[in-house]
Amino acid sequence: MASLFQKEIKELKGVGVKRSQLFAKLGAPTVGALLRFYPRDYEDWSQPVLLAQAPLNQVCTVKATVISPLSEQRIRKGMTLYKLRATDGQHDVLITFFNNPYLKNLLLEEKEYLFRGKVSGTLLRREMSSPDFLPADRVLPLRPIYRQTAGLSSRIIANAVNSALALLPNPLRDPLPEPMRQSYRLCGLGFALHNIHFPKDRKALEHAKRRLIFEELLILQLGLLRMKSRNRQKNTLRLTQDASRDFFTSLPFSPTGAQKRAVEECISDMQGDSPMNRLLQGDVGSGKTAVAAALCHSAIASGMQAAFMAPTEILAQQHFRTMQQLLEPFGIRVALLTGSVTAANRRKILEALKDGQIHLLVGTHALLSDTVSFRRLGLVVTDEQHRFGVAQRTALTQKGDHPHILVMSATPIPRTLALMIYGDLELSVLNELPPGRQKTETYVIDTAKRSRAFGFIRKKLDAGRQCYIICPLIEDSESDMASVTQYAKDLQEKWFLSHTVGVLHGRMRPAEKERTMAAFSAGQIDILVSTTVVEVGVDVPNAVVMLIENAERYGLSQLHQLRGRIGRGTEKSTCILVSDAQNEEALQRLRVMCETSDGFQIADEDLRLRGPGDFFGARQHGLPELKIADMSADFELLKLAQDAARELLSQDPSLELPEHRGLRAEVHQLFSALE
Ligand code: ADP
Ligand code: MG
Repeated sequence: MASLFQKEIKELKGVGVKRSQLFAKLGAPTVGALLRFYPRDYEDWSQPVLLAQAPLNQVCTVKATVISPLSEQRIRKGMTLYKLRATDGQHDVLITFFNNPYLKNLLLEEKEYLFRGKVSGTLLRREMSSPDFLPADRVLPLRPIYRQTAGLSSRIIANAVNSALALLPNPLRDPLPEPMRQSYRLCGLGFALHNIHFPKDRKALEHAKRRLIFEELLILQLGLLRMKSRNRQKNTLRLTQDASRDFFTSLPFSPTGAQKRAVEECISDMQGDSPMNRLLQGDVGSGKTAVAAALCHSAIASGMQAAFMAPTEILAQQHFRTMQQLLEPFGIRVALLTGSVTAANRRKILEALKDGQIHLLVGTHALLSDTVSFRRLGLVVTDEQHRFGVAQRTALTQKGDHPHILVMSATPIPRTLALMIYGDLELSVLNELPPGRQKTETYVIDTAKRSRAFGFIRKKLDAGRQCYIICPLIEDSESDMASVTQYAKDLQEKWFLSHTVGVLHGRMRPAEKERTMAAFSAGQIDILVSTTVVEVGVDVPNAVVMLIENAERYGLSQLHQLRGRIGRGTEKSTCILVSDAQNEEALQRLRVMCETSDGFQIADEDLRLRGPGDFFGARQHGLPELKIADMSADFELLKLAQDAARELLSQDPSLELPEHRGLRAEVHQLFSALE
């Protein structure tokens, strides 16, 4: 099997150079990859109907014997019509095809076939036009449907797969060891591959699927667990000072129970035998930043440096200010490094960092640059982790000698899924909001009521509060940028003459964005018209209203993140979703927003309404893309695969035994794309 991954697809019978490029485009450049190119669906040919019962104009399968020779009729230049009659024993059907000179050899008189297509006409004169057909005696009840591309139909792919299957060595080495297959009741690889493509019947298909999903999840788990154990180095940066109590007393508020618990868990990790490697998950507004600050404080008190990486410039700015406020009173020196820091400044920062004069470096991806080096990096915090890939996370940790790692995420995903995606991390959850928070009221209005909403906003502004207005923007489109600016201008001139309207969008230069955000934060801007660049993390508690234009354009989780920008103080906040949407799915989403503010519930709904793609696109979390398993649907198998992976690694941590080599190769292959 492994060698088939070396065999180029063009070596396959019937696949020339041109087609091989199309196969490569579909992600199957080799014979091995083609065998792993699973059908996206199956056509069921197993239940042919009688013509009398065939539903009109719906695709169905009819079993019929050809009872006339194929007639050929040239209708006009380049257009030939072929006709034949067939019978199911009770009724006849007229079957027509266009331009297919090969039919003569394929459809023989007196032979029985399955025809699949739409039946039209009347009972006295049934017709089928260009149906799919197969000889009735060598029929596969379930035919594979592949994702196709221009010039490469599902049928051609099926033929290629068929030739590829013929090349499988017999017996085939199975990467899953025999005892594991037995205890988890999994079929062999050969059976699975044959039956995932050309199932003998439904049951065989289920067996094949189960095994392949298990295998895929197992390999993913093995990869993640090995990453985890690789991180399981000796803890050379043991925390000597637990300064969290001093830190908590210095806060302007008292920490929630959840915050205290999370800090305790982290500190105990950092005092342990191996470095901390932990995910801190908390809904928007649960106070993750204070937890991070507490840990930076203790790490620095123990003689280490800390790094804090955020996905956007605005967030890095904000964290920098927060860290300064919270930590400078302890004599901790904090610096900010982003792409927009001037060269001279940058040089100064980097030197001070190397000397150990800077204790905490906050920044964006700029932290990953080769020129950034620490004297003694002991703690790495990354915020809003789903925007960083595993590889980036690793890049930052390599700037130290196995530093402690804290990953913070506001994406409230169910615990099982979190364990899956972040299988290499321990998990702490902030399941409690700071006291005094009021539930944000959420309403949906149509555009006709917008002016009333503006009246409501005006009252809030007059009372000294601030407001966000979110306008959708198609990424990087000039005209949309103009539309945000124009929207803000209209708002200023027509509705809010005596208030200050500011604009924030992704096309602005970082320094400009920063100025605008700082002005909003300081209360110099009353209304911030923004695209979703404010989506993550921004914290301005005085902003108590958010109006979202074209709210139907966003996914639930994104709306939840956006809405999380308000309701951060003690005053009641209001979120107004403006939408003229008629479509039921969109309306359903907006209703969910009005009904609940629980991030986990919203994530579940989102998963249900939109499928797991959003959470599991490789782009989002930096994990390899899965071919067959669906992590939200295959829970049970996921658990089994997790158990199996643990057991396997406890016997053979580096997968060195001969019977585990196949698995090791597959783990390597799945994860190599990430490296
Ligand atoms: P998130 O978890 O979304 O990153 P933040 O860390 O930005 O949340 O905190 C949200 C707001 O709540 C901030 O203004 C912060 O100062 C405040 N906050 C955090 N913890 C507490 C607490 N225990 N009591 C009161 N306010 C808190
Ligand atoms: Mg945050």
